[in-house]
Amino acid sequence: MNKPKILIFDIETSPNLGYIWGKYEQNVIDFKDEWYMLCFAAKWLNNKKIITSKLSDYKLYKKDKQNDLEVIKELWKLLDEADVVIAHNGDQFDIKKSNARFIYHGLNSPSSYKSIDTKKVAKRYFNFNSNKLDDLGKYLNVGRKIKHEGFDLWLGCMNGDKKSWNKMIQYNKQDVLLLERVYKRFLGWIINHPNYGLYQGEQFACPNCGSKNLIRRGFAYTKINTYQRWICKNCGAQSQSRRCEKDTIKPRLKN
Ligand SMILES: [Zn+2]
Repeated sequence: MNKPKILIFDIETSPNLGYIWGKYEQNVIDFKDEWYMLCFAAKWLNNKKIITSKLSDYKLYKKDKQNDLEVIKELWKLLDEADVVIAHNGDQFDIKKSNARFIYHGLNSPSSYKSIDTKKVAKRYFNFNSNKLDDLGKYLNVGRKIKHEGFDLWLGCMNGDKKSWNKMIQYNKQDVLLLERVYKRFLGWIINHPNYGLYQGEQFACPNCGSKNLIRRGFAYTKINTYQRWICKNCGAQSQSRRCEKDTIKPRLKN
């Protein structure tokens, strides 16, 4: 059976390096070095393997510590393969930052995919104190991010420190695992989730997770039709049949 290929991913970028005149509320005069991709971690939904790629994995790194071409090519391949991508704040950050690097390196856009931004989901359906991934993990009791030393970890990577790179990748991997768990907690709530049934060629399936373990849960009414409503026993998502239950009453025509 076909299933949509759902990619969960998270990127880490370097900061910009710029010239400024002072410390308080400053404008950047000019950039010395613009940001680039340090690494990413990704996994296919429900697949145990975590895919990672970092600058220091490649030969290129010895020559040029800021050239992210190889990392970017790896990420492009994954996004090109994906039907759906999941990232936290992905619509604003991960997807657009990735696109910026794709076009910089002269790559075309990857084959189109649908995006599920878990930060948007958090904002749309709930009023949490915080929509940060770490706070969501804590609130939903599914884990936390790895604690790290903050900006020094980024500096370490930028200076080529092996320990920093290893820690960065561990941190990146944990983000992806946490993201998958948060997504799964949200799953049943997401309206207009990309429809599994369409990818599976199967009408009777939960749109959000593809399960056929659905039970009847009343009817949905429009002005003219009645539709069977279903609830998924796997993820809790509600859906309704595409065909109406009863024929509409035929109008009586005059003569
Ligand atoms: Zn489901």
